[in-house]
Amino acid sequence: MTAAESIVRLEGVSKRFDEITAVQRLDLAIARGEFFVLLGPSGCGKSTTLRLIAGLETVSEGRVWIAGRDVTQDPPAARQISMVFQSYALFPHLNVAENVIFGLRVRRVPNAARREKLAHVLDLVGLAGLERRKPAELSGGQRQRVALARAIVADHPLCLMDEPLSNLDAKLRGEMRHEIRALQRRLDMTVIYVTHDQVEAMSMADRILLLRDGRIEQLGRPAELYEHPASAFAAGFVGSPPMSLIPLEALRAAGAARSLAGLPDAALLGLRPEALRVVPRGAGLVRGRVATLDYLGADTVLGVNVSGQHFVVRISGYSPVTEDDEVELDWPAEAAHLFDRATGERLSPPLAETSGGSEALPASPAPARRHLGPSELVGDTVPRRHITKGG
Ligand code: ATP
Repeated sequence: MTAAESIVRLEGVSKRFDEITAVQRLDLAIARGEFFVLLGPSGCGKSTTLRLIAGLETVSEGRVWIAGRDVTQDPPAARQISMVFQSYALFPHLNVAENVIFGLRVRRVPNAARREKLAHVLDLVGLAGLERRKPAELSGGQRQRVALARAIVADHPLCLMDEPLSNLDAKLRGEMRHEIRALQRRLDMTVIYVTHDQVEAMSMADRILLLRDGRIEQLGRPAELYEHPASAFAAGFVGSPPMSLIPLEALRAAGAARSLAGLPDAALLGLRPEALRVVPRGAGLVRGRVATLDYLGADTVLGVNVSGQHFVVRISGYSPVTEDDEVELDWPAEAAHLFDRATGERLSPPLAETSGGSEALPASPAPARRHLGPSELVGDTVPRRHITKGG
């Protein structure tokens, strides 16, 4: 990305609060028109990064550029940004219309232009007709729409959002996700959006920056994070239900020895729930017992205990397997991820690219793969001495 294409650029930005380093030497460029999500667990530095861009915090080191200008020393008002917070930050004594145009009044935008902008933006966010209501007379979703309208009407090139949907219930959050994304595309806004919710990040972002302890864990498109997680941490954080991360030595102990030939013990095998299959007896790589079963309608999620290791398996629709059944599991070679057990880093090249045959891979060859039919239910009928085909 050239300097002209980026609207925000961070160069070696760090932020320290006494002995706590909240953000560590962050280098980052965000493109114009991008929906950019800062994702990570509580305390990883997402809000601090956003506040450094906004100018609500001063940097300890490094430089912040917005629209080609070094704004490192500029106050928030000089940075040409609008903000939407989790708390809505509305004036309780002002009605919807007054809250939305408050900034335009301060900027002395003429009356007629204010009225026109107000009507347009209330229409955009679905609040037309509610102009005279006070915030206390609105639902949480409507209040957040007022905050959005205020951010849009400001007409700034950059909008920063800090967990804007956290106070809403799950159904409304889903609706507002789509509305915000549609508005951002329609208005060609650049949005930097903070969330700890990976579903929000995956469904809204053009790119995600996954932060951990103030550092970049991974930066990429949602599909890149999902399909090529850079670390065991990224693999476990993105995706629900989460990826199973199994030490290879435990898998050997579980009987999959032959199929793991050539792979280091000090590695973690990562498998997405949808990559794992319950297969007919004799066709699996490992055998375990169903410890948990969550029927979700479209899917059933199984927790399978294999010699003390927890595999999460997603089955489409209704599962013929029930709790406490013995099952055999299989997975395709190309779906397997491998991470260094000590550092958590992805071992490169990825497993699928090292494929010299199924013997060297923790998976069965493709032709052997098929779904389990109801009549092939393993259950307790499988002789326990038969562990796996590799064992
Ligand atoms: P959350 O999702 O819980 O809001 P976050 O990822 O946004 O977390 P930050 O709020 O950026 O995390 O905080 C990063 C680190 O900096 C944390 O350890 C936090 O305690 C610390 N921190 C943030 N603001 C301050 C402050 N004003 N004074 C001291 N420490 C702070």
